[in-house]
Amino acid sequence: MEHVKNVDRKLYDAITSETNRQKTHIELIASENFVSKAVLEAQGSVLTNKYAEGYPSRRYYGGCEYVDIAEKAARNRLKKLFNVKYANVQPHSGSTANMGAYRAVLKHGDTVLGMSLDHGGHLTHGHPLNFSGIDYNFVSYGVDEKSERIDYTKLREIALETKPTLIVAGASAYSRIIHFDKIKEICDEVDALFMVDMAHIAGLVAAGLHPNPCDYADIVTSTTHKTLRGPRGGLILTNSKEIYKKINRVIFPGIQGGPLMHVIAAKAVSFKEALLPEFKSYQKQVIKNAIRLANKLSELGFNIVSGGTDNHLMLVDVKSLTKLTGKDAEKLLDDVNITCNKNTIPNDEEKPFITSGIRLGTPAITTRGFREEDMDIIAQLIHDVLMNPDNENIMKEVKKRVEELTTKYPLSY
Ligand SMILES: *Cc1c(COP(=O)(O)O)cnc(C)c1O
Repeated sequence: MEHVKNVDRKLYDAITSETNRQKTHIELIASENFVSKAVLEAQGSVLTNKYAEGYPSRRYYGGCEYVDIAEKAARNRLKKLFNVKYANVQPHSGSTANMGAYRAVLKHGDTVLGMSLDHGGHLTHGHPLNFSGIDYNFVSYGVDEKSERIDYTKLREIALETKPTLIVAGASAYSRIIHFDKIKEICDEVDALFMVDMAHIAGLVAAGLHPNPCDYADIVTSTTHKTLRGPRGGLILTNSKEIYKKINRVIFPGIQGGPLMHVIAAKAVSFKEALLPEFKSYQKQVIKNAIRLANKLSELGFNIVSGGTDNHLMLVDVKSLTKLTGKDAEKLLDDVNITCNKNTIPNDEEKPFITSGIRLGTPAITTRGFREEDMDIIAQLIHDVLMNPDNENIMKEVKKRVEELTTKYPLSY
């Protein structure tokens, strides 16, 4: 950071403070992770200087021979990782990938089924203020009241009733395996296309620890920066040549200009890392840690939505045990350097900005090296803080334990 330091003290201070924050906090935000130094280096490279509108070997600018290597490698590694025929690695983000996918197969006003936001769906799955909810007629499906798992029977009924052009699966806050085979059956029955947004679970899928949506869906979108542990960005996959051609046209020139070649290079590096055997062990540990954390919190009296987790995250109902809202819980945990986010739980009585729950995930702490026994400690610390919100001694003690843990597993940036 020497150059930033010389040119811009304000930004130097902000970046070093953020580095320090990441090092000293227990990061439980389920959508975050820590990239390798190799990924960071590629993203910080001179490829940011290059305009490369178009696709490899078909560019609108000269001098693209080296950035072509990056984009071709990213695509090829991605295809191998998810066992799929076609890949577009240019979407700047998960949201842009979804916009690209929708535009490739939908017309304005078409009916689409997506998971309800307060049951775990994403903004781009039909929120009224999001382009998805504005451009298309989204109808929601959700989880069963008792099991708090996707209600596939109800989903089928809604599909039969509304005859959607597209059914979207995928979520930002759902802790169970998504049964793509069941949804694909429904799509076939009502003659709908099937899209899976695997943003949260892409790393688990790549490691073979969650069913692969590419085996069922017409289009698969994802972010690259969550469990997949790449740079911030998006991607689109398909096995259909026809859909692939449409996707390429929609991404460029449809909704984006020049691709972020430095980010695409970093994506390529992260996909190479994801193909290594170590990545599979890492994802296994992510799940083991999540299950252990959920079990321990549950033992301590917390109600976990759906009773537990099959993946990297869980929704914890904090209100029923502690009387605190999700908003208050997030703030209290932040005060002891444990970072998480408030989250609605199914059929939440509180507003989305208040909530009754928090969402916890293990991808980031597992990258640092945390293991099951550390999950027991974290669960206990969360319990102690949330059960004693006014006890300064306990808050101080917990903060000290957090420091011990983050020192035991240093982040090497
Ligand atoms: C995170 C997420 C996205 C959006 O990704 P951004 O890169 O933040 O735009 C889309 N869909 C799902 C399911 C997500 O979890």
